[in-house]
Amino acid sequence: MRSLETPPDSLSDCRECGLLQRHPPLPRGGVSECARCGGLLHRDRPDSLNRTLALTVAGMLLFVIANSFPFLSFEMQGQSTRTTLLTGVVDLYQGGDWPIALVVLFTSILAPGLQLALLLLVLVPLSLDLMPSWLPRLFRWVRTLAPWGMMDVFMLGILVSVVKLSDMATIIPGASLFAFGVLILVLAAAQAALDPDLVWARLPTGADLAPGLRPSDDRVTCDVCALVVRPSAVVREGSHPHCPRCGDLLHRRKPMSIQRTWALVVAAIICYVPANLLPIMTVTSLGRTQSDTIYSGVVFLLTHGMWPLAVVVFVASIFVPLLKLLILVFLLVSVQARSAWRPRDRTRLYRVTEAIGRWSMVDVYVVTILVALVKLGNLASVQAEAGAVFFCAVVIMTMLAAMSFDPRLIWDVLEPEYVGDSERSGRPASQAS
Ligand SMILES: [Zn+2]
Ligand SMILES: [Zn+2]
Repeated sequence: MRSLETPPDSLSDCRECGLLQRHPPLPRGGVSECARCGGLLHRDRPDSLNRTLALTVAGMLLFVIANSFPFLSFEMQGQSTRTTLLTGVVDLYQGGDWPIALVVLFTSILAPGLQLALLLLVLVPLSLDLMPSWLPRLFRWVRTLAPWGMMDVFMLGILVSVVKLSDMATIIPGASLFAFGVLILVLAAAQAALDPDLVWARLPTGADLAPGLRPSDDRVTCDVCALVVRPSAVVREGSHPHCPRCGDLLHRRKPMSIQRTWALVVAAIICYVPANLLPIMTVTSLGRTQSDTIYSGVVFLLTHGMWPLAVVVFVASIFVPLLKLLILVFLLVSVQARSAWRPRDRTRLYRVTEAIGRWSMVDVYVVTILVALVKLGNLASVQAEAGAVFFCAVVIMTMLAAMSFDPRLIWDVLEPEYVGDSERSGRPASQAS
């Protein structure tokens, strides 16, 4: 009953436009791109699993160091505070700003830490040629967590915070700041070294290869492991069809893609207004109190001669969220209008939207770091304000919106057998035949 099609290294559906294509084995370091939309199909990563394992072990050690020692100290008029990565989260939580505390905890500590731990749990058994039954589930989680680890954005937040405080106090970098810096590079290298297709290819599928699957044939592709399956070969648990290899739920297109994306985009647009109008933090220094909005934070950097940083914060915090929302609205409207206009360029726009969103978190991190560092009572203190909560919500919701949108819908209208969004998006594989 577990019969399915050809292995993923020779036949796959493009993740971005859904075109079925066969690609020959790649030369060392080679790349194959989709013939229709230009999306990346596969990259050959030499010695992928061993390199990823080595980098993950190094990353785990750095992660422990980065979380064990103070990463910044703040000195002002003989008084000082020291802060670890967790301090800001705890201070925000105690100050009643638990939504931001949770988001910062998840994106700067939990997601990267879990990602490293899960990678170890997957790669160590694989290197010993073991195949425990929980392995596919854990590896699915590695993929899910990847976009949420934002240590690099946190580092930019540290840079902005140090500049903001430079004329108020002395900032001393701690041991863990260096570990943190190296960890960001190691994590990026591990992600670049990892070839998920190699891990999936090691997993048993009970494969009954059926060569000759043509682009027009009825099929479902697993969103997680990219296995191409005939609907008749799908394993079912209850009424839900599951991937025979990784166990994830199978669907032709992301379920309710248009409706979910619209809901998140509209909610994000509503939150974008208070996020920019309300102050994100209040700074008290030597008895003087001043509220900062996102915009006034940019102006502060500009008036202090830090224009490169001002440009970065303006682009990340004001320009990128707005651009992202506009692009998503454009994509949604064009898909619903069944537009055939430049599908390749629209797919490219989607790719950009997915990649840039996380950098908007930088202002949320700046607030967190300042709250943790500056707490000397009346002498100097920083409080998070409502604007930061709305801003945090905008960033998370635009990220979720981009993830909910299915770029294959852009191409579906060009297919001769196109039957309409309501039928295609979210139609479970079991009803396909
Ligand atoms: Zn494509
Ligand atoms: Zn799968």
